[in-house]
Amino acid sequence: MCPEKVKVGVLGATGAVGQRFVQLLQGHPWFELTALCSSERTAGKRYGEACNWLIGGAVPTHLRDVVLQECVPGPECDIMFSALPGDQATTIEKEFAAAGYAVCSNASSHRYDPDIPLLIPEVNPEHMGLIDVQKRNRGWSGFITTNPNCSTTHLVSALHPLHVRFGIQKVFVATMQAISGAGYPGVASMDILDNVVPYIGGEEEKMEQKEPHKLLGKFNGAKIEYANLVVSAHCNRVPVLDGHLEVVSIEFAQKPTQEEIIQAWRDYKPLPQQLELPSAPQPAVIYLDEPNRPQPRLDRMAGTIPGMATTAGRLRPDPLFDYKFVLLGHNTVRGAAGGSLLNAELLLAHGYLGQVAATWAGAFELA
Ligand code: NAP
Repeated sequence: MCPEKVKVGVLGATGAVGQRFVQLLQGHPWFELTALCSSERTAGKRYGEACNWLIGGAVPTHLRDVVLQECVPGPECDIMFSALPGDQATTIEKEFAAAGYAVCSNASSHRYDPDIPLLIPEVNPEHMGLIDVQKRNRGWSGFITTNPNCSTTHLVSALHPLHVRFGIQKVFVATMQAISGAGYPGVASMDILDNVVPYIGGEEEKMEQKEPHKLLGKFNGAKIEYANLVVSAHCNRVPVLDGHLEVVSIEFAQKPTQEEIIQAWRDYKPLPQQLELPSAPQPAVIYLDEPNRPQPRLDRMAGTIPGMATTAGRLRPDPLFDYKFVLLGHNTVRGAAGGSLLNAELLLAHGYLGQVAATWAGAFELA
């Protein structure tokens, strides 16, 4: 018999990322969307009326008349996906975790808290162990997990299979980030059309000092020991709607051949792909041989689960470091809502989501 679906809600359901959650949760085999929450400005209104639908298609018919709730604990669900602005997420997510919800957050507020996991299921699933530390530290019945910033997600997804085989010591990355990464209305059209903005507040610090190091770090049973690599990042906003392109140069501890790097990407089959989690793309990293790919318009929805894979290409020797290549990933799918969704699937498969979820966890053969 199929176990009952796990009830989930979305905080910030009217925003750019919130809409992606709503879209990705339609027909999800494990999760049922039962609560849509937003700010005081729109709470009490019907979703179809309050939401400026931005992502193609239309507001799902059965959700149009659902009344938006305020972001306070109470909705009947086990998981709360958070697409709140960082400043609002700080308090609201803690209130939900204290009230017993599993909060899967996109916001940056808690990414760097020592007892809160920053997860990419392919990269560091063992960091889920921090949830027990967090619950003990804070006395919460629920917990918070986070996923990284959209540009870090795709960078680290491409680097991970190389780091585990050859050890990465230095990374230089220049990003060309889509305007949907700034939410809606985001960057004014007068600022971005016919232009490139060579600054995205806080983005370079996240990539250079915090996120790759935590993600590639080791969980020692009590905390994460950050990975020892040097990252230099230049972050730019470009007039592309969706999809972040990144050009990357890397230096290894043990320099592989070009063929060995491509083989490492092609052999990569981490835990979510082994478990065949519903949102796990097969493969996680796609390497394209064409000399002019990946490109945002052509490749942002690549993969078996559209928008969930990272695409790499143009691997070649680098006169400064060892090698350079290009990568591309969808920022609001894998880089935001889809990343949280895959985290929730991983948590459910590992029995972290309470009673209902325990029946699902039994379906997996996990060590
Ligand atoms: P957004 O379009 O501005 O949406 C913000 C959402 O939060 C709306 O639903 C809004 O509701 C709600 N909200 C605003 N103030 C609130 C308050 N005081 N209390 C409760 N709800 C409130 O932003 P976004 O681009 O979706 O980003 C959401 C989060 O995801 C941010 O933390 C962002 O950094 C992160 N993120 C975004 C991306 C991306 O590519 N866009 C990628 C990764 C991570 P109303 O409609 O009622 O105002």
